[in-house]
Amino acid sequence: MSFHTPHLNVRPVGAFSDNYIWLIDSPNAHGRVLAVDPGDAAPVIAELERSGATLAAILLTHHHLDHIGGVPELLRHGAVPVIGPDDTRIAQRTRTVRDGERCDLPDLGLSFEILQIPGHTVSHIAFWGHGALFCGDTLFSAGCGRLFEGTPEQMNASLTKLRHLPPETRVFCGHEYTAANLRFALNVEPTNRAALEYQARVDRVRAQGNPTLPSTLGLELQVNPFLRCDIPAVVRAAEVHAGRSLEEPAAVFGVLRAWKDQFR
Ligand SMILES: [Zn+2]
Repeated sequence: MSFHTPHLNVRPVGAFSDNYIWLIDSPNAHGRVLAVDPGDAAPVIAELERSGATLAAILLTHHHLDHIGGVPELLRHGAVPVIGPDDTRIAQRTRTVRDGERCDLPDLGLSFEILQIPGHTVSHIAFWGHGALFCGDTLFSAGCGRLFEGTPEQMNASLTKLRHLPPETRVFCGHEYTAANLRFALNVEPTNRAALEYQARVDRVRAQGNPTLPSTLGLELQVNPFLRCDIPAVVRAAEVHAGRSLEEPAAVFGVLRAWKDQFR
């Protein structure tokens, strides 16, 4: 299975219980691919062998082991550039990219803009280009990453940055969390029709064993409570949960995030 954006062909490689490693085909050099967040090498190597592709570079969104753990083994199969954020916890990085910078891969015909999006971790980045967003564990479909290192204010600012990308942007997240996230989203907004329709679709897709990703930013704006901290129904739900009034979207976000952490 693969997903065609206007300029990109992207396919998921499942790893561990719910991680996705995304393989991006180079439009210029057929059979050469980028791997995004290869937490495990074995499934990537298996997919490269199955498809006859070769690895051209590795993109990393953040330092967590389930996103970088496969890098040493992949490099043993062949040295390729390892592109990631400024963080000493990513030892194999050969190229550091920073907010607002372009990450050009001219021989592959690919170019991404780097978005610094702290919150899940302090140095978390996203790669945005060719109508696609690779956002690691910051934005999930119908949810967002846990705050391991950042503050609610930081994460809310990061998600606000993503919110302003074009709505047709395809969102490639690091995990298959959509069904569980939607249960929480519908607890916050029980009458959100887009979320109810999406839940029915997600249930069908998962019953067939297929990924729910990529999502689109336009859909996320309709169903993802963490991108809707200024929508009256979401603000009211957060205020009822917190038992106090919430003046700022970042405060609404903080309440939602803490609520989700406890939600079963
Ligand atoms: Zn993570």
